[in-house]
Amino acid sequence: MSQVYNWQLNRKMEYPHDEHHPKRQFAFVFNLNRCIGCQTCTMACKSTWTFSKGQEYMWWNNVETKPYGGYPQFWDVKLLKMLDEVNPGGQKWNKDTFDGMTVFEAARKNVGDASQRVLGYLPTDEEWRSPNIYEDSAKGEKGVEGSFHKEGVKLPEHKTWFFYLARICNHCTYPACLAACPRNAIYKRPEDGVVLVDQQRCRGYRKCVEACPYKKAMYRPSTRVTEKCIACFPRLEGKDPETKGQPMETRCMAACIGQIRLQGLVKINDDGSWTEDRYNPIYYLVKVAKVALPLYPQFGTEPNGYYIPPRWIHRGFLKQMFGPGVDSAIDSYMVPDRELLAVQQLFRKTNRIIFRYEIKEGPKVYETQIHGKPFTLYNDTVIAYDQTGKEIVRTQVEEPFYVRPNIHQNSI
Ligand code: SF4
Ligand code: SF4
Repeated sequence: MSQVYNWQLNRKMEYPHDEHHPKRQFAFVFNLNRCIGCQTCTMACKSTWTFSKGQEYMWWNNVETKPYGGYPQFWDVKLLKMLDEVNPGGQKWNKDTFDGMTVFEAARKNVGDASQRVLGYLPTDEEWRSPNIYEDSAKGEKGVEGSFHKEGVKLPEHKTWFFYLARICNHCTYPACLAACPRNAIYKRPEDGVVLVDQQRCRGYRKCVEACPYKKAMYRPSTRVTEKCIACFPRLEGKDPETKGQPMETRCMAACIGQIRLQGLVKINDDGSWTEDRYNPIYYLVKVAKVALPLYPQFGTEPNGYYIPPRWIHRGFLKQMFGPGVDSAIDSYMVPDRELLAVQQLFRKTNRIIFRYEIKEGPKVYETQIHGKPFTLYNDTVIAYDQTGKEIVRTQVEEPFYVRPNIHQNSI
């Protein structure tokens, strides 16, 4: 085992391989306050990559309803329980530092089987079978079905609640799938950090399926090898004719109806830290505004998917899922400053990858109070540029308001 630095845990941790980092990293931010559970992303991915024989149960992108839903069923609850069994009562944060055990560290302590590098489990066929089970099922007042609180919809926390959690492979910095593979068939691309399975080397041992804490490596029985999200890498490489050689967002991102998704490529230093890139929107949201948080950072893979937590959900539940930054992320999101509000307008305004943004200040529109805090809205303009510095989109904080004429082409 090597010692590697995991910035999400604020400490070093054990990992079966030495540190090697890509030059850039595929990363994304999902705003869970906006997801409407329409599954357009799910179908965009399915119809692109997993529509063939042997892939029937595969959903590289899935959207589950929390707290009860999950694909495969109960994937996160099961692993949280296993970790707690290995380290009873010790899976805790001490301020920003995780004092508990990651899936790599817990495997070492667990050692019934010395060859086990990652703590995990293999889901049953049954558990993969119903990807959208418990859709729209809310948590009742006491966790009892039908016991819904009559006045339970006031912020800061609704008493009756659910939310949609959209998920893809996180193209982790320290992938558990890669760590567990005895054939070294899984690799992380140096140019963009995308994690891929070499279909020639894979022998279908399913160690990756067992190890991935997010259960995003999937076995294909018709070919007897593993497949997983490939981050639509031809689009990242600018192979789609539409973008004329420039990086383009994945299919699931570009299709998002709720405009919850923003994907980018962040620059990485040799030691794995993010190169300061103040006006890259992903860098800004994760490192400056700190409004977007990793999913289950305590698992230890340093996932590169980040989430703006849903503001109406029980804080304890959110902290278990997104770590200690939840309160401050929600506070910032609920009363956004001028820059955060402007950057939020970039979600789904283009299918090109944005490498830099610029804000041109506009007039004050109105002032108000939100939860006792002053808030001022400015109609700023935000401009996005591609990696060559070419402008790709320009939009405003205040949505343009059009009044249709009485007679227009689609009048009925
Ligand atoms: S989410 Fe799972 S499959 Fe994807 S890189 Fe991380 S460990 Fe591997
Ligand atoms: S397309 Fe967007 S809004 Fe619809 S389910 Fe997917 S992430 Fe949510």
